[in-house]
This record gives sequence, structure tokens and C-alpha cells, in this order.
Amino acid sequence: MTDCIFCKIAAKDIPSDTVYEDGEMLCFKDIRPAAPVHLLLIPKAHFDSLAHAKAEHEALLGKMMLKVPQIAEAAGLTNGFKTVINTGKGGGQEVFHLHIHIMGTPS
Ligand code: 5GP
Ligand code: ZN
Repeated sequence: MTDCIFCKIAAKDIPSDTVYEDGEMLCFKDIRPAAPVHLLLIPKAHFDSLAHAKAEHEALLGKMMLKVPQIAEAAGLTNGFKTVINTGKGGGQEVFHLHIHIMGTPS
């Protein structure tokens, strides 16, 4: 059993406030929001960070990037939003399962 908290969220072993889900990715509310809307988009398959992404992740990362504006709009971020991907300890990453922060204020 993995010790990764986001794998546990993806597996529904730990509850999350989910706003989007399909077969490959899950988006849920950050537990410590740094903005009025603060979501995390994760792949269901584990890899540690952008620095660990391989060619096999190319299509998935593309799908995630294209999903971001759809999720943002559905969350009311119609005037724009911020995306952040922290990579590695030096990049401020705390949870080592790749995730895209989606942040903003509904307009
Ligand atoms: P990082 O610093 O790794 O880019 O961001 C990790 C984010 O995950 C933080 O913003 C933190 O608040 C969030 N987080 C950590 N543990 C949990 C959790 O158990 N549930 C949710 N929903 N968010 C979490
Ligand atoms: Zn994981």
C-alpha cells in the first residue's frame, strides 16, 4: 500500500472535495487554500513531479493542461486564474505526486 497521500485520495481511501474526475485524473479542493478558489489537479497514476515525467506521460500531461481552463471556468474563474506546478524541494514541492495548482478569485 502506497504512502502517497494523493494516491490515497485518488483511490478514495482519503476523502477529498472533488470537483472533476475522469479515468486518468482527479481535481479536488486544496485543504489549505491560498486563494478563494484553490484546486489541485492530479493524475491518478503516480509520478513524483514534473522532473520525473517520462515520454509515456506526454499525452496525459497534455490532457491535464487542456482540462485546466475547463475546470477553472466551471469553478467560476471566468476572468483568469493562476496555475502553479512546484517541482522538487527547492521548488517548494511538499507532496511528491505531480499536481497542478489552479487558483483564483471568482468574478
Ligand atoms: P505543493 O507544495 O506540494 O505544491 O502543494 C501541496 C498542496 O497539497 C498544499 O497546497 C497542501 O495544502 C495540499 N494538501 C496536502 N495534503 C492534503 C490533503 O490531504 N488534502 C488536500 N485536499 N490537500 C492537501
Ligand atoms: Zn501518489
